[in-house]
Amino acid sequence: MNEQELLGKTPTGLFIGGEWRSSSDGATIDVEDPATGKTLASVASATVEDGKAALDAAVAAQDEWSRVPPRERGELLRSAFELITERADEFALLMTLEMGKPLAQSKGEVTYGAEFFRWFSEEAVRIAGRWSTSPDGKARFMTMKQPVGPTLMITPWNFPLAMGTRKIGPAIAAGCTMVLKPAQQTPLTMLALADLLHEVGVPKGVLNVIATSNTGDVMEPLITDPRLRKLTFTGSTPVGKSLVKQSADQLLRVSMELGGNAPFLVFPDADLDAAVDGAMLAKMRNMGEACTAANRFLVHEDVADEFAAKFAARMEAEVVGRGTETDVTVGPLIDQKALDKVGELVDDARKRGASVVTGGETTGDAGYFFKPTVLTDVPADADLTREEIFGPVAPITTFSEDDKAVAMANDTEYGLVAYAYTTDLGRTIRVSEALHFGMVGINQGIVSNPAAPFGGVKQSGFGREGGPEGIDEYLSVKYVGIAP
Ligand code: NAP
Repeated sequence: MNEQELLGKTPTGLFIGGEWRSSSDGATIDVEDPATGKTLASVASATVEDGKAALDAAVAAQDEWSRVPPRERGELLRSAFELITERADEFALLMTLEMGKPLAQSKGEVTYGAEFFRWFSEEAVRIAGRWSTSPDGKARFMTMKQPVGPTLMITPWNFPLAMGTRKIGPAIAAGCTMVLKPAQQTPLTMLALADLLHEVGVPKGVLNVIATSNTGDVMEPLITDPRLRKLTFTGSTPVGKSLVKQSADQLLRVSMELGGNAPFLVFPDADLDAAVDGAMLAKMRNMGEACTAANRFLVHEDVADEFAAKFAARMEAEVVGRGTETDVTVGPLIDQKALDKVGELVDDARKRGASVVTGGETTGDAGYFFKPTVLTDVPADADLTREEIFGPVAPITTFSEDDKAVAMANDTEYGLVAYAYTTDLGRTIRVSEALHFGMVGINQGIVSNPAAPFGGVKQSGFGREGGPEGIDEYLSVKYVGIAP
């Protein structure tokens, strides 16, 4: 299917109560191709009234949905997994068009995103409770898990499919209804997914999807609506903090998947070629626009020159361009603001004494392209050691002792993921235990897996997505005390 045919068949409305509709004031959002700056499509932009209608639909569907047998809920997810897999090429192209990542990476996200549906289709039938006797023997405790209830989901633009499926999957498995608001830069993938879930038979009102350009005004009344039971958010730490404040009034159940500042440690005993492979994955997946992106490379001084040379050679060999072209490995950044920010961070590091080994500048006549960049001698006070770079820029700093490397790695308010390359078992254990992060990748540059609990500590948020833990975020525990 070519681009125009795909865009022509992708829904552009608000999906509320199992139906597609226009915005109540007719407003739309233009979705841009970040490789060209051209408009791909216009989608309906929800008003405050539309947002309320979406929550009304989720609330109305909740009771009946919670009584649908777990096996049926699981089978819906399984069917959705199969249909997404069958349409992988279409989903991948749609994501590349609106988000920019190369097609091969979009296909990787389709596999990863669909896998949450398969994983949670299997978890739906494993929701269990407990039976126990009180310590004094006078009562019995029956513990059960029940769906939390209507949930608001807010997702970012960087993984347009997977950031949704890792919320929708466990919510469907647990028996929760939902309103999902995708990022305004990338709503098309989620609208296509809503259509697919409708097609496989998810009942009306269970999933409602609304994009909006009036984000704060449309979301706040939902967050403060006493009928909402849970808020789950993936996005930046500042927005996450403001949403936690809004949700405090009614003490909503809240999950927060926020920003990161991942260190990537290379110890002197590391297999350097494997470390460079891992560095490419940890840095260049999604052009560096990932919460899990390696943000700081901390390399032992004995191997730093060799690591930097090999890493820079690999970065130089990357092919920058529109993600739809077959040989392209690095797509554009999401927008002009993102491109400007990456440029400013590189300029700041350079002014403070960093050396540019390769890259360091924008490229291309249209779109938002930045060259794959390696910086060495990056001082500790450079802004990019504190802030998420969210671009294809790898700053390298050296260390001489393990303790100092771990202290540097932990010297951030974020705590999502850290990576370490070493072949020493004792060091693996010591370093894994000492790192203040929710996830650690040892000798691997990617940790995301639907069967593992994804999430952070500190200002990277709280809650876990995926793994057996993922479904608990959508369940409440109730205990019934029985006097026999
Ligand atoms: P963002 O600006 O925080 O936006 C994320 C979502 O929040 C979007 O849907 C956005 O809607 C919405 N939003 C913005 N302001 C809001 C408000 N006042 N009330 C309610 N919703 C609001 O983040 P982003 O730039 O899209 O995404 C990048 C960030 O996400 C990075 O910090 C990255 O690390 C983080 N991230 C974290 C994870 C994780 O699992 N920890 C995964 C992926 C990304 P609009 O599009 O309408 O503005």
